[in-house]
Amino acid sequence: MKKLEEVLQDWEAVIGLEVHAELTTLETKMFCNCKLEFGAEPNTHTCPVCLGLPGALPVPNKAAIESIVLAGLATNCDIEKRSMFYRKNYMYPDMSKNFQITQGPVAFCMRGHLDLEVDGAAAKERIDIPEAKEGSYVAHIGIERIHMEEDAGKMIHIGGDEGRIAGATHSLVDYNRCGTPLIELVTQPDLRTPEEARLFMQKLRQIYLAIGISDCSMEEGSMRCDGNVSLRRRGSTGLGVKTELKNMNSFKNLHDGLAYEICRQAQVLEEGGQIYQETRHWDPSAKRTIVMRVKETADDYRLFPEPDLAPYDLSDEFIEGVRAKLPELPDQKAARFADEFGLSAYDARHLVDHRATADFFEACMGVAGKDAAKLAKPVANLAINDVTAWLNASEDADLAQSPLTPARAVELVKLLAEDAISSKQAKQVFSAIMDEDKDPSVIVEERGMKQVSDTGTIEAVVDAIIAANPDEVARYKEGNTKVIGFFVGQCMKEMRGQGNPKIINQLLAKKLAE
Ligand code: ADP
Ligand code: ZN
Ligand code: MG
Repeated sequence: MKKLEEVLQDWEAVIGLEVHAELTTLETKMFCNCKLEFGAEPNTHTCPVCLGLPGALPVPNKAAIESIVLAGLATNCDIEKRSMFYRKNYMYPDMSKNFQITQGPVAFCMRGHLDLEVDGAAAKERIDIPEAKEGSYVAHIGIERIHMEEDAGKMIHIGGDEGRIAGATHSLVDYNRCGTPLIELVTQPDLRTPEEARLFMQKLRQIYLAIGISDCSMEEGSMRCDGNVSLRRRGSTGLGVKTELKNMNSFKNLHDGLAYEICRQAQVLEEGGQIYQETRHWDPSAKRTIVMRVKETADDYRLFPEPDLAPYDLSDEFIEGVRAKLPELPDQKAARFADEFGLSAYDARHLVDHRATADFFEACMGVAGKDAAKLAKPVANLAINDVTAWLNASEDADLAQSPLTPARAVELVKLLAEDAISSKQAKQVFSAIMDEDKDPSVIVEERGMKQVSDTGTIEAVVDAIIAANPDEVARYKEGNTKVIGFFVGQCMKEMRGQGNPKIINQLLAKKLAE
């Protein structure tokens, strides 16, 4: 199979996502007052409504409607005042009612969009966008709709491989998840690369977390995504036949699954074959996709209006009440950081990647007081690099409870800004704070880490090293400027790693040029 890069020279990928999010922050289910709780003893949160016993009547959860309207407003959707619920009929043991309540052609939220700023190596995948060559561009991604539906129960297959149904001896079903309020966002087929799909998902997750409607755990399945993808020849505008990758449960799987599928489709098409509209499963360990089933059509579900629920007629008052609850969204926060503290757009954007790093940065700026503008950049670096790596290293890492208080972070950054320690030492101090729960000044003192920035001391070392290595000096003068690295290394060694590298470099450059 060809590489993605190569495939994208001849083919344009067309990608649309369907993203499900469970409204986990609500107390109760969508149409009954059973408690919403992940990981509870199976079948302990059920009642006649969510089990679909004959005669039981659903009552909509108002807080869930508020959540979906909030999601719509946060993603630039129009809020439809008039919409209604439908029954989507199917027979499978995970839903004992034999139908799922969902929305029809008109959803609560329609016609939204999100803008993605794409940069780094993946930006170059968009060979159709001239400015992408310079390393960044903005992609405008349309959102078709966000609708409300209820989740089904959970099947547990016993005896098969990796919990799959194939080869299982029997299956169990847990109805606790039945009736969990679920919102599904459907994008327009506007995404063009796996990286854009990944970024869209990441941005949507940040927004949902900011508005507090879901815990968005990809591992526990409270946020999951189906990726639809087709190919067309560069320059053509029609849509090809798509395949759908089901239930991608991590950003990496979404990216890698789509990348594989694009390459697979290109190979089939280039060999004169045909793509079938089918649902496929991405197997990350085997690194390939396999067919799950051929596509069912809407007709198969006999969708019809839910007779037990009246159509909605949302009031302006209700919608405006929800709008008033909109918090500052990640994009707005990034713009404010850039504006207030003079950060680059890039730094500001990556700070808001995590709620934790954004809050941490703000707290540090509060501590920094009049030095805020001066320390903004190094604090942002600390947050984006070291702190983010620390957060990513463990699942239950909690920055707010960690030894790195904003006061300690500001102290650390000041030591670096004043050249009291080198950037390498700053990394060591960071680890030591996390491991030993001590102040930066104490760590620096205990380990004798003080960086030597005294020009006189450094000059003496530089002179000695230059005098001791005449051959290397000659090579430098012949134009091999790379040997400066050798001299820096020797000086550092002589100073036991405590020399200020900036000053060493400056003095070496000056003296070697003499
Ligand atoms: P389905 O009927 O299979 O559910 P939809 O029309 O509802 O398909 O679209 C589902 C998702 O697939 C949407 O995100 C949409 O943008 C995307 N999509 C639709 N057609 C294509 C296509 N030809 N190629 C890629 N994505 C597509
Ligand atoms: Zn119930
Ligand atoms: Mg669909």
